[in-house]
Amino acid sequence: MNVDVTVIGAGPSGLIASRCLIDNGYRVNIIEEHKTVGKPVACSGLIGSDFFSHFRKFDVKDSIKNRIDGAIVYLGNDSFELGRKGVSFVVDREAFDQCLSRGLDISLSEKFLSFERKEDSIITKTSKRKITSDILIGADGPLSKIRAQDFDFNLRYFKGYQVRVKADLSLENFVEVHIQRPFFNWIIPEGDGIFRIGTVSDSSESLYRFLKKKKIKEKPIEVQAGIIPVGKGEIYKDKVFLLGDAACHVKPLSGGGVYYGALASECLVESIVLGNYTEYQKKCNELIGKEISRGLLFRKIYENLSDDEIRAIFDFIKSKKHILDKSGSFDEHYKTIISLTKDPKIIRLLPFIIKSFFRS
Ligand SMILES: Cc1cc2nc3c(=O)[nH]c(=O)nc-3n(C[C@H](O)[C@H](O)[C@H](O)COP(=O)(O)OP(=O)(O)OC[C@H]3O[C@@H](n4cnc5c(N)ncnc54)[C@H](O)[C@@H]3O)c2cc1C
Repeated sequence: MNVDVTVIGAGPSGLIASRCLIDNGYRVNIIEEHKTVGKPVACSGLIGSDFFSHFRKFDVKDSIKNRIDGAIVYLGNDSFELGRKGVSFVVDREAFDQCLSRGLDISLSEKFLSFERKEDSIITKTSKRKITSDILIGADGPLSKIRAQDFDFNLRYFKGYQVRVKADLSLENFVEVHIQRPFFNWIIPEGDGIFRIGTVSDSSESLYRFLKKKKIKEKPIEVQAGIIPVGKGEIYKDKVFLLGDAACHVKPLSGGGVYYGALASECLVESIVLGNYTEYQKKCNELIGKEISRGLLFRKIYENLSDDEIRAIFDFIKSKKHILDKSGSFDEHYKTIISLTKDPKIIRLLPFIIKSFFRS
């Protein structure tokens, strides 16, 4: 079979890139190993409002379950509130992916196995056949086989666990964020009294400890687990592209990847249409590269702070929450942190930050 582009993975990144390529007249073959788009779900489905304004042409509104107006940030029992109406939305990830896949022809239950470059083409071997195309896009998620086969990458994997549970919590349009390294624990109100409660940890035990602490005894409606890839590396090599989680287009501090994967999809399609494939890495660097590099640096610092240093930083942020209310961004964590440095009192925290950096 001959097509212009083979896309591996029918997650948000692969679907958005495929749709844009088809709109530009390309013949695209989308390969997905699962039998249904959007399943199994391994995502909290919290997506910043910028996605919905930037990608208006993708009609995903049917997947929205709730509007989020801010966060309550906890360190132990101490907390502060950050508010902004409509800062993000909670989506049903299966329905979200299904919306993105509308009108696309996807080869389901077909697994990518390997690829080889032959003359001017890429031969992709799947569980069912061999496909010849001009270009191959690896949008095959956090454990990308395409990345493993041919790309230099410096990355770490984190495990995320989440339950959906009906509970009696007075939390309608705010999320709870509980600082707990290496990331945080979260409670996200989905609506109809259902909450998504999760953690990033080596084992699901810490999620069950958190549920116990929150006195949630109800049996989960659903248990989900997935991998978050955090790092950086090559995303283009001789007609083969990596995209989305496969390319670590993920916010290093929160693990969210839907918006960055979507932005990278646009960069990818622009560079293919231009016929200048190396532009892809440049465009991605301009749009999300700085956030990812700085996010990786802040992650190192965060992971190496002592508990007392975390407390001091928490107290500082709590006292400056008006700055975050005004300038904080759901998707641009570096810019958010920089907005805090406008306060001269940040100087008191510098020794902790520098020490932690060198500890790492
Ligand atoms: C617990 C958890 C919570 C999260 N919460 C959020 C959140 O609230 N907000 C947010 O923005 N992000 C969140 N994320 C991250 C988000 O889920 C990912 O960034 C996003 O799904 C990336 O989209 P993608 O299309 O790049 O990859 P994926 O969604 O992983 O899609 C990849 C696709 O490729 C397919 N595939 C893989 N290998 C093969 C193969 N060999 N052959 C054929 N097909 C293959 C997979 O089946 C899958 O459909 C969370 C992640 C986890 C683990």
